[in-house]
Amino acid sequence: MLKDLGTHKKGGVITERNPEYCTIRTRIPAGMITPERLRGIADIAERYGADAVQMTVRQTIELPHMPPDLLDKISHDLSSNGTPLGAERDEVKNILACTGNQRCIFGNIDATALAMEIDKRLFGKEMPVKLRIAVSGCPNACTSPMLNEIGITGKIEPIRVPGMCTGCGTCVEYCKEDAIAIKKGISVLDSSKCIDCGVCVRSCPYDLLKSSGPYYFITVGGSRGRHPKVGRELVSVRSSSVAADVVEKVVSWVYRRAWSGRLLSDQLDDLRFEKFREEIRGQIPEGELFRPGIVAEEDISAGTGT
Ligand code: SF4
Ligand code: SF4
Ligand code: SF4
Repeated sequence: MLKDLGTHKKGGVITERNPEYCTIRTRIPAGMITPERLRGIADIAERYGADAVQMTVRQTIELPHMPPDLLDKISHDLSSNGTPLGAERDEVKNILACTGNQRCIFGNIDATALAMEIDKRLFGKEMPVKLRIAVSGCPNACTSPMLNEIGITGKIEPIRVPGMCTGCGTCVEYCKEDAIAIKKGISVLDSSKCIDCGVCVRSCPYDLLKSSGPYYFITVGGSRGRHPKVGRELVSVRSSSVAADVVEKVVSWVYRRAWSGRLLSDQLDDLRFEKFREEIRGQIPEGELFRPGIVAEEDISAGTGT
C-alpha cells in the first residue's frame, strides 16, 4: 500500500502552468453522467470560481483554475456529487467507451456496460505505468481501442450458410471491405479481407449470413502520443464478463511485471508478451474462447448455395 501523500498528490489533480492554480479531473466512466450530476459539477465549478469546464479526450470533465488550498473541500464536494477525483498519473485512468449496441446501428457489444464494469473493478489502481483502457462497439473503433494499453473491440464474424442465395448483391453493397463477391450467381466471403464488423449479417434479406454471436477482441500495448503504436492481439472471448476478467488479468500482469519510466508499449517484448498470451489463452473457460470459423469458399461452392 502506498503512503497517502494528500489530495494535491492524487492523480486527478494537475498543477497548471501558473502553479497558483490546479486543474481537477473527475472520474466519469464511459463519459456517462446523469443530468443531476452534470448540474452538480456546474454548481461546484461556479462555487470555486471557474467560469468554464473542459471535456477531456478521456471522456471526463475538468475544472480549471481551482485554488490549491481548497483542494480537500473541492474533492469532498465532487465525491458527494458522485463524480470523484479522476486519474492522471501511473494508474488505471478513466475508461473510455463508445455508445455501443445500445444506440449505434453498428454496435456489436454494449461498450458502455463493459467500461462501467472495468471501472468498478480497476479504476485508479496504482501502476508502474500509465494504463489506459478503451472499449469500442465495432471495428469502426471510435474510441481507438488499439491505441490504448488495453483495447476491447466488439466484433461479429459472418458465416455464409447454405441456402437459396439470389445473388441480389445487398451484402456486397453493405461490405465496405470488398470482402464479399458474387461468383457464379451466389455470394462468397473472402476471410482475408473481412474485419468482422458484422454489417453484412444484418443486411441479407434471406438470412443467409449468420454468426455465432458477438465476440470481444482484446489488444494490449497500444499507445497514442509522441510515438503511436497499435496494440497487439491478446485473445478474443465470447462474453462481457470474461472480457472484464481478462482485462483484470492483464492489469495484474502489468502491475507485477512492468518497469516504471517506460510506456507499456515499449516493454512488451521484455515482458515476454507472447508467453503471457499463451498463459491467458490457457485460462479462458471452455466455450468462452472465440475461434474463427469462416466457411471457406470451397465449402460454400460445395453447399446448396445456388
Ligand atoms: S465504434 Fe462502432 S459501435 Fe461504437 S460508436 Fe463507433 S460505429 Fe458505433
Ligand atoms: S463482416 Fe466482413 S464481410 Fe461482412 S460487411 Fe463486415 S467486413 Fe464485410
Ligand atoms: S447472401 Fe443474401 S444479401 Fe448476399 S447476395 Fe445472397 S441473398 Fe443477397
